[in-house]
Amino acid sequence: MDIRSVGVIGAGQMGNGIAHVFALAGYDVLMTDISDEALAKAVAIIDRNLERQVSRGKISAEDKAAAMSRIKTTRSLADVGPSDLIIEAATERETVKQAIFEDLLPHLKPHTILTSNTSSISITRLASRTDRPEKFMGFHFMNPVPVMQLVELIRGIATDQETWESLHEVVRRLGKTASSSEDFPAFIVNRILMPMINEAVYTLYEGVGSVKSIDESLKLGANHPMGPLELADFIGLDTCLSIMNVLHEGLADTKYRPCPLLTKYVEAGWLGRKTQRGFYDYRGEVPVPTR
Ligand code: NAD
Repeated sequence: MDIRSVGVIGAGQMGNGIAHVFALAGYDVLMTDISDEALAKAVAIIDRNLERQVSRGKISAEDKAAAMSRIKTTRSLADVGPSDLIIEAATERETVKQAIFEDLLPHLKPHTILTSNTSSISITRLASRTDRPEKFMGFHFMNPVPVMQLVELIRGIATDQETWESLHEVVRRLGKTASSSEDFPAFIVNRILMPMINEAVYTLYEGVGSVKSIDESLKLGANHPMGPLELADFIGLDTCLSIMNVLHEGLADTKYRPCPLLTKYVEAGWLGRKTQRGFYDYRGEVPVPTR
């Protein structure tokens, strides 16, 4: 199928990155959010990130201008409905995502492919509540989207081969690499990554190490480019907690229980970089550990 227009729902850190890479690859992008502020911020971030690519010689000023001209925003979900491909990248909460798909359905074209960038929620369950489970897939980009090479393609139980192939071709056109995952909680990357982050929070909670010593240990001792707590702040602690809850409930195994300290940070509204405080405080010149 020839995909030209792409609707992106949710203009947070993932939504803006997804809009960025699709516009740069020549797709027309329409981005929506419930917040005007989020939409304005997303366009400003895309502009800044494209500018950085220009200054590093990765793209030309003309490429940037063309990409920016392909990105439009709207507050109305109905406007996004007729896109060839829709990528839902709203908050990681199943009720939010279900409501979005329910509101979208009357506005879709018959050929529209529906996808969710969810990190963990069942694709089969989200798909089953739409009119097109065969044209529904998990389309899981990594953060930051313009930098990270991988896209996980997740087949729901009803997804047809044509839809999978269309998305595989899109990933190729974006210059990224696709991996295939079956639809089980948190798929491949987060099934492995999140329990490690959760264990790092337990290590902090039990007083085995401080934020600094945990992050330094994994960076220098396991050759990880970022420490697990730094990475959790980068991902968003609310997203990390949601994924742990999905693993815990979906796999019914206590080894996935979210650390109470992770819950406490989320209850405090300390969600990481996006709220300027998490395991580190980002309000000053350099990040300062909060424990
Ligand atoms: P975010 O909090 O930065 O952004 C979410 C955006 O969704 C916000 O701007 C919010 O206003 C908007 N939103 C909420 N309800 C909405 C609605 N009904 N309609 C339209 N917009 C709505 O979150 P994020 O980190 O960008 O995550 C978005 C999705 O991407 C989640 O499903 C998350 O699991 C997934 N994801 C996140 C990462 C990561 O590292 N953060 C990586 C891969 C996938």
